[in-house]
Amino acid sequence: MPIPFIQTLDRYDIIVIGSGLGGLTAANRLAYCGHKVLLLEHHHRLGGLATWFRRKGHIFDISLHGFPYGMVKTCKKYWNNAIMQSIVQLKNIVFDNPQFSLKTSFDKKDFTHILESQFGVSPDVINRFFKTVSGMNFYDDQAMTTMELFNEFFPGRSDIHRFLMEPITYANGSTLDDPAITYGIVFSNFMNRGVFTFEGGTDKLITMMSDELEKNGVTICTKTKVDRIIVEKGKVRGVEARGKTISSRAVVSNSGITNTIYNLTDKRAFSDEFLEKAAEVRVNNSSCQVYMGIRDGEKINDVGDLLFTSTAAEFDSAELLDRETKSKTFSIYYPRTRPGLNRYTIVASMNSRYEDWAELGEEQYENEKQSLISRSLKDLNRYLPGVAEKIDWMEAATPRTFNRYTLHTQGTSFGTKFEGLDVSRSIFKEISGLFHVGSVGIIMSGWLGAINYGVIVSNDVDSHLRS
Ligand SMILES: Cc1cc2nc3c(=O)[nH]c(=O)nc-3n(C[C@H](O)[C@H](O)[C@H](O)COP(=O)(O)OP(=O)(O)OC[C@H]3O[C@@H](n4cnc5c(N)ncnc54)[C@H](O)[C@@H]3O)c2cc1C
Repeated sequence: MPIPFIQTLDRYDIIVIGSGLGGLTAANRLAYCGHKVLLLEHHHRLGGLATWFRRKGHIFDISLHGFPYGMVKTCKKYWNNAIMQSIVQLKNIVFDNPQFSLKTSFDKKDFTHILESQFGVSPDVINRFFKTVSGMNFYDDQAMTTMELFNEFFPGRSDIHRFLMEPITYANGSTLDDPAITYGIVFSNFMNRGVFTFEGGTDKLITMMSDELEKNGVTICTKTKVDRIIVEKGKVRGVEARGKTISSRAVVSNSGITNTIYNLTDKRAFSDEFLEKAAEVRVNNSSCQVYMGIRDGEKINDVGDLLFTSTAAEFDSAELLDRETKSKTFSIYYPRTRPGLNRYTIVASMNSRYEDWAELGEEQYENEKQSLISRSLKDLNRYLPGVAEKIDWMEAATPRTFNRYTLHTQGTSFGTKFEGLDVSRSIFKEISGLFHVGSVGIIMSGWLGAINYGVIVSNDVDSHLRS
């Protein structure tokens, strides 16, 4: 249970700023290792983007659409068995666009079969493609882009590019122009066994994680925005929040990397060389979502768990980001994915640019949100005819919403582009005791990426404190 801020002590071993999956994991691991950890979160609940909200008896998940099988091992090893046991596969993934319509279990076996039987690719090319992407790792040459990778194996086949790329663009915001490894690593993670979800919803997961934090002795304060990271003589001394200074030997910031450098830390504490590198970091795009709740007692047909839909002629990274994009993913939550409530909810997700929404006046903003809802409903109606009659709640979120709740620069959903990884990984070399964890470099984003990064950073912090 979070404690009132007034009850916090004056000193901890480690202060973690932010309770996204990266921050939660780092806090938990460090407390498990015996350190005294304080976790400060600006929002009233834990989870960061791994969050949910309730309306009219519905619970809407924000970012629980799918993650790779790697979550099973990661949760077992770094959280607990109970969390691991709630991870289940989503078996019906649907693609529907002017180039093809198909259903898949989204794993290597099925993709191989589809690429061969439906797209006419030879087994040799398919095998070489899978071998190439599964062999990619962090330290590879970043010169090749995803577009170049696709053109090497499937030249001129925009239908195949779409099949391989569209889900990954939704999963981590990457585009055809990003380094191929940002595609290859995430795609291979999914191809391992398919797409998985957390049965029972995000609220259940975060409650289980909070219980684990409490068991390991993490002190938690919500509704507490950290205003400043205190640095003296090149070393972290603690943080300032709500007018109080709290000391610590290490600070782990789960705030965005850009926020951490420009808004939380005195820039003079960094070297010119580091600041030059940081200035190059581009934040990733944001999202729009439309949440639709089916009236209690009503049912909808099973049309798949995750629907990648588009009426755009071809896949185009820019089209996916357009305010009026014709492409969206529908996540359908049936009572089987959220046992207990016996309700159906649907979330439409679109990638989106902050600048397209930031400057709108209030009236235009509301009108644009209504148009977004109408377009999503119209698209959903293609799969669930007459669904509007069954819906009793609809609401939209935009990049402004994500910015407000997480404080992320431009409401970014997936942290930064690739160059952010190096900056995040080297911040502790600049300021002794200051660490960053959270979505960076495309690879470290997403539920699995953020949790795994939390483990990596907790090891760095533990070594630092023991050295
Ligand atoms: C619409 C959407 C859909 C997504 N879908 C998926 C999906 O299907 N699968 C998947 O794997 N991933 C998905 N993601 C991405 C995934 O949710 C994120 O990559 C991951 O949850 C981010 O974790 P994080 O550790 O980077 O922290 P974040 O979740 O970004 O949390 C950072 C936390 O820090 C807090 N904070 C910031 N500044 C301060 C401060 N100064 N003081 C105190 N607290 C502060 C914020 O309030 C927030 O709680 C999606 C994201 C979005 C937006």
